[in-house]
Amino acid sequence: MASPEFNLIEQFFTHATAQRDDVVLGIGDDAAIVNVPSGYSLAISVDTLISEVHFPKETPPQAIGYKSLAVNLSDMAGMGAKPVWATLALTLPNNDSLWLTEFSQGFSELAHQFGVQLIGGDTTQGSTLSITVQIFGLIKKDQGYLRSAAQVGDLIYVTGTLGDAGLALKHWQENLKPTTDESQFLRKQLDYPEPRVTEALALQGLVHAAIDISDGLVADLSHILDRSQVGATLHTDKLPLSLPFKSLVSKTDDLMLPLTAGDDYELILTIPQIHQNRVQQIMRSFECDLTCIGAIEKQLSLRCLDGNKKIINIKQHGFDHFNET
Ligand code: ADP
Ligand code: MG
Repeated sequence: MASPEFNLIEQFFTHATAQRDDVVLGIGDDAAIVNVPSGYSLAISVDTLISEVHFPKETPPQAIGYKSLAVNLSDMAGMGAKPVWATLALTLPNNDSLWLTEFSQGFSELAHQFGVQLIGGDTTQGSTLSITVQIFGLIKKDQGYLRSAAQVGDLIYVTGTLGDAGLALKHWQENLKPTTDESQFLRKQLDYPEPRVTEALALQGLVHAAIDISDGLVADLSHILDRSQVGATLHTDKLPLSLPFKSLVSKTDDLMLPLTAGDDYELILTIPQIHQNRVQQIMRSFECDLTCIGAIEKQLSLRCLDGNKKIINIKQHGFDHFNET
């Protein structure tokens, strides 16, 4: 007789995602077997989400399923890799089939959207809900977007808008319910971030360095600067902000969110100036905006300028500049 664990896997995961020709053996054996096409390298990344650490307890299971894959797809986007396979390690406090139904809906919806097949995993019981997703992606040989590849003169671009997820999280922590269209938009940005995989792949051959924004623009751009041994100037008046963000940002403190808050899962891309027009042309076919916010420079470290080209001091808890106004 099949064990409850086996039934659970069969019911919720075996057929839940895309079915790919390059999977020789998927869920059901001691290990999965896959074929990596010649001329490609494998990009591998893993992320764990723990209840109360990475998401509030009351997060809808569908959003948890979606986000646990989305954050991994975003890592693939940051590498310029095409995500193809995933594994899923779940630790569950109990065998709650309603929770699992909704979780697997969120997970599989996104997996189908990006043609990713779930090829294996592990299911265990434990006191704290924890989800680990490992993602596998394909990169054409030597075409990856490395953090170390930014060059002096590159323009710095970001996809989408910044600060939405950070403001939603703040509202959540302040116990503000998302009752208006604007606050619901922000909450959706937090729970259902859109991984920029397609956009990243469309720009192949035009990008030097890239990273996805999980810890905040300044922190993540600094990783590129450190690894590439370069500096940069950012024009903070150019930061792309959504209309809901602008309408709901109330405290001056919140104005630092687009620079310092995480969870947006947008991309930072450094692109040589000669590709500027081509990049803008390609991005016209996407709904997602791509905004130039600065440039890579020889002088080390990061300089953030306001609209009057005055340097803003970014402190952990806010901008001096914004606190003055
Ligand atoms: P083993 O005892 O060999 O580790 P398991 O009983 O843990 O095998 O898993 C049986 C099969 O189901 C394996 O192919 C495994 O990869 C897969 N599996 C287990 N849990 C999950 C999960 N949460 N998601 C996807 N596949 C899973
Ligand atoms: Mg196992």
